[in-house]
Amino acid sequence: MNIASVIVDVAAKQIDKGFDYLIPEQWRGLIEPGMRVVVPFGPRNIQGFVLEVKDTSTYDIEKLKEIIEPMDLTPVLNKELLELGDWLTEQVLSTKISAFQAMLPAALKAQYEKKIQLAPHANVEDISPLLQPFFNEGGSLLWNDALKQNVINVIKKEAANGNIEVIYEVKEKVKKKRLSFIFPKISTEQMQFEKENNIKGIKQQVLLDYFIEHPVPIESRKLQVNLSVGLATIKGLVDKGILLIQEKEVYRDPYAEREFNKTTPLSLTDQQAAAIKPILSTIREDRHEVFLLYGVTGSGKTEIYLQSIQEVIEKGKEAIVLVPEISLTPQMVNRFKERFGDLVAVLHSGLSQGEKYDEWRKIQRKEVRVAVGARSAIFAPFENLGIIIIDEEHETSYKQEENPRYHARDVAIHRAERYQCPVVLGSATPSLETFARAQKGVYQQLTLSKRMNDQALPSVQIVDMREELRAGNRSMFSRELFEKLQDRLEKKQQTVLFLNKRGHSSFVMCRDCGYVVLCPHCEISLTYHRVQDNMKCHYCGFETRTPKHCPECQSEHIRYFGTGTQKVEEELGKLLPDARVIRMDVDTTTRKGSHEKLLTEFQEGKADILLGTQMIAKGLDFPNITLVGVLSADTMLHLPDFRSSEKTFQLLTQVSGRAGRHHLPGEVVIQTYTPDHYSIELAGDQDFDQFYAKEMMMRKTHQYPPFYYLALVTVSHTELMEVVSVTEKITHFLRKSLSNKAAVLGPVASPIPRIKDRYRYQCLIKYKREPELRNSLKKISSQFLQETGKNGLQISIDMNPHILM
Ligand code: ADP
Ligand code: ZN
Ligand code: ZN
Repeated sequence: MNIASVIVDVAAKQIDKGFDYLIPEQWRGLIEPGMRVVVPFGPRNIQGFVLEVKDTSTYDIEKLKEIIEPMDLTPVLNKELLELGDWLTEQVLSTKISAFQAMLPAALKAQYEKKIQLAPHANVEDISPLLQPFFNEGGSLLWNDALKQNVINVIKKEAANGNIEVIYEVKEKVKKKRLSFIFPKISTEQMQFEKENNIKGIKQQVLLDYFIEHPVPIESRKLQVNLSVGLATIKGLVDKGILLIQEKEVYRDPYAEREFNKTTPLSLTDQQAAAIKPILSTIREDRHEVFLLYGVTGSGKTEIYLQSIQEVIEKGKEAIVLVPEISLTPQMVNRFKERFGDLVAVLHSGLSQGEKYDEWRKIQRKEVRVAVGARSAIFAPFENLGIIIIDEEHETSYKQEENPRYHARDVAIHRAERYQCPVVLGSATPSLETFARAQKGVYQQLTLSKRMNDQALPSVQIVDMREELRAGNRSMFSRELFEKLQDRLEKKQQTVLFLNKRGHSSFVMCRDCGYVVLCPHCEISLTYHRVQDNMKCHYCGFETRTPKHCPECQSEHIRYFGTGTQKVEEELGKLLPDARVIRMDVDTTTRKGSHEKLLTEFQEGKADILLGTQMIAKGLDFPNITLVGVLSADTMLHLPDFRSSEKTFQLLTQVSGRAGRHHLPGEVVIQTYTPDHYSIELAGDQDFDQFYAKEMMMRKTHQYPPFYYLALVTVSHTELMEVVSVTEKITHFLRKSLSNKAAVLGPVASPIPRIKDRYRYQCLIKYKREPELRNSLKKISSQFLQETGKNGLQISIDMNPHILM
């Protein structure tokens, strides 16, 4: 077993497979599949994953290169995850290496340092005197330092002569955090003896007294501060063989300093009991099954998750809980921490790389049983999974929009099949795909139709903003909403105001001719920023000043249209000067912990109105919220996306669910310019079933999922002609290779026809059953790309597109 098959860290289709390397003698028996190793690859040393360890190679063993060194002592990918990587690659047509990378915390992704050193056969005397000081006695120079020293040109010359070479050194991104701990080496009695007979120094006696009373390890720094002794004193006792210093690894646990009040399982309502029963049976019988837990907001789904996990833990197994990033609020996380304490690891983007790495390692070392996290937590390296839960399963954030373009739901079902355990998909507004599968009996549906305490769903009122304008109300608040706002202020109850910022809600438009200012590189409208009085592109970062005159018609009536949260805040300040407002959007929550701080303030009643974007739509569960206002329901409805109705319906339902979750009844006001649209009307009635029926009809008519599958090929290049001609060829090729039941649409310009100066064209495939599709698409992404051989041409394939832009 002295040959390792290694896949290297280069995301290119042509080399996306194992290459054989010799395992040097000293590491035989030590190198295992799933470990990271450093190997020579062309002129560089790069990182790779060991796929297999074997005796023979189909290559000439004499010519195999040797592995340089292992990067891990234990595999970072277990056997199941290695297999999952194979499966994922085939499913989403990504490279295998990107599938493996997606499974690991960012801290484990390789970072390379460019280092310059003397070539093996060269003598330091032969190179330019300018460089000699750097390379004396086997010295080397970091690339970045060379840049600073202004010697790059000389280095290039010497490199061309073969005297100098550049190597890539793999760096670990994040160091484990280590602290030194002090603890006694001898027994308490022996310490007592030493103190009485051999130790004279006062400080050393103080130290001994401490350890006689507390004979356990303590962090060195703490010890020094608490006893006001110096490191020298400690070292003195170490030298005498009384104390020991040892480096110990510690976790950076962002939740460590917080106290959690332990909660116990609530006694379930009849509905909850009926819903949890089939889940518990599958756990007890080690059976795989997919459940749709379809329950209105506030119906007690989370308690079902908690009690199912309890059962799993008691069986000695593990649980993964996915929640959308946006609802990974402290409130949600706390509910799991409060129930399961230290058995919970939390993975979300608010953590630093180091913290995430530490949480991940708790899972890998089997120190926890529950992983709560956003999309990528689906790859938590558990080896005895007992349940996978996906809360708010309809959320689009479960789909990754870069390679590998996977959907966490598919990965969940695949892993659960392997472990023979249940998957629970929870939602008040399931995705159409999921609901359709439940209707067909592919998933088992469990329903919670009632809110806790039989609290009624909030009453929803839809306000036609066109009518408001006709009645002379030019404010962003309708008369109804404003009256209710005043009413809540008087009653000292809280209001949530929701502004849908996705889409183009604050672009600059000419009121006379309708001209909209677009990004010159991306062809999407620029977003107006009030503070700097400028406009920014949210795709490429382009910035420019707001024009004073319309470039088209010279009119002065060019200004921003639509409303940002800041504008609403100002308006509230004018209309309701006594109201205390907390604004939550990307600008006020960039700093770590600010999100939580603002929510806590609101919870503690330090404000009357919480004003925010998407990020306040979910997870809020405060008893004193009795009014929810949606300022403009339409912004999302007009995106060029076949799911825009579904998304609008889901979002409005979610937001409405924030009101009246406890004893006080809730009211919701939805302001809109299109009150007749079914997704708004039916969100008003909170009637998912009817929305589902209606939307299914639309999807069927227009041949969209869940009736058809989609695949999207997007081609981009800086030359328009190039993009068009390649996309044309691809479309042609696909039409020829697929059956006539598949629809191949295109080539057309993408809804965003240019990003960062690259033109984008696409081809959309709608199909039901096409056994040849994957192979044809693979040909496009490898062969086709090579054949055309065009520099800078990019082809991306999405087997389940969620964003058609
Ligand atoms: P969902 O996840 O469906 O939105 P939650 O699980 O958040 O609903 O439940 C809503 C509220 O009801 C929470 O405050 C929760 O603590 C409470 N709750 C849930 N189940 C029970 C129960 N069996 N008995 C009493 N209170 C419950
Ligand atoms: Zn104009
Ligand atoms: Zn741009």
